[in-house]
Amino acid sequence: MIIRARTVVTMDGAPIENGAVAVSGNQIADVGKFDEIRARNAGEIVDLGEQALLPGFINAHCHLDYTCLRGKIPPLRAAADSCSHGPVGRPNLPALGDESTGHRPVATESFADWIRAINAEKAKLSPNDYIASINDGFAEAKRFGTTTIANLTAFAELIPQIREPIRTWWFAELIDVRAPERSNEIVDLAIGSLKSAPNWGLAPHALFTASKNLYSHCEEVARREDILLTTHLAESREEMEMFRDASGPLYEFLKSIGRNMSDCGRQTPLELFLGAPGGRALPHWIVSHLNELTESDFDLLERSERRFHVVHSPRSHDYFNHSRFPFEKLRALGFNICLGTDSLASNDSLSLFDEMRAFRRSEPGISPDKILKMVTVNPARALRQENTLGRIRRGFRADLLAVRCNERDTPFEQILEFDGSVDWIMVNGKL
Ligand SMILES: [Zn+2]
Repeated sequence: MIIRARTVVTMDGAPIENGAVAVSGNQIADVGKFDEIRARNAGEIVDLGEQALLPGFINAHCHLDYTCLRGKIPPLRAAADSCSHGPVGRPNLPALGDESTGHRPVATESFADWIRAINAEKAKLSPNDYIASINDGFAEAKRFGTTTIANLTAFAELIPQIREPIRTWWFAELIDVRAPERSNEIVDLAIGSLKSAPNWGLAPHALFTASKNLYSHCEEVARREDILLTTHLAESREEMEMFRDASGPLYEFLKSIGRNMSDCGRQTPLELFLGAPGGRALPHWIVSHLNELTESDFDLLERSERRFHVVHSPRSHDYFNHSRFPFEKLRALGFNICLGTDSLASNDSLSLFDEMRAFRRSEPGISPDKILKMVTVNPARALRQENTLGRIRRGFRADLLAVRCNERDTPFEQILEFDGSVDWIMVNGKL
């Protein structure tokens, strides 16, 4: 098949006016000017007309489990800060007191409030509800042009019951805060379910919900199986307060549920993460958030040679009223920065177009082509797919989308402005 469009945005050099892409099976066979492509390749011609054809988007951080929680928990505003996910009360672990009474909270002013709120919502959900939620999330992500997703799930056992309509990296989200003695068992159980998925990895939830032992065990598995790892790090002011100062609402909350708090009161979250034995900061790590970094953290990052990948979720970040994401400083240090939507418990759509626009509002100096890289080229690198995804290049997977585009502005500007459902999308060579 030959797909012609007004412009082909390859992310591999300048956009090609009157361009075309030849697709054979699930691969891009050729890309260039329409006349050249037609001369070199046989096949049906599909003319998309006044559109830009571009690589499918890659969502670098999402929790489709919580698609059904859209609009259920009010955003944190005044004097608030928090972590975007508080799955501290997994259904298979004992819930705590009033967290699971099911009462709808009226306000979320602290992280502890937010944990209670999401746990109350989660307590109402059955495995079938989660399956529906995940399927709805996949459909929505695809509708907005996402062809690859890094999806964290707290329910790896449900994966075999799901048929993903887009390319998916399944990460089992792992929490052992209520049962640290079971950390290896929790990891190994999840791996049993994950192995049915073509692409998988492990996600120790965060330093405050996953033990040192759980992190180490995940790293051992990553070395052995050559898989990816992801985690939430330095997301909230409360997380910084907990680890550095041994105080604050998150500290008090986790202490009250029996977490061993002996790792608190000395180090920042980043110091704890990088300083763990076993060579933390393996290149496998995809780290979400990093909103809270001190000057000494930046010194540490500068000295440390390893560069993990970073995911920023602009709208979830705003929902929680986090400290400003240090984009420029991280970029100057050479970090590969990607965008993700996070879950709909703290966001209102799974659209990476919306995410790019939100990012642009906070970083108006960054050009649209660089922002587009954060949902194509950069996350492809984070997933170690820089030779198969994120660009329109010969031999790459045929994951494509098209949006309307005319002569009034640059293709990059028009892509960032696009609002709505994508009418034309190809995943793995299939329409
Ligand atoms: Zn998350």
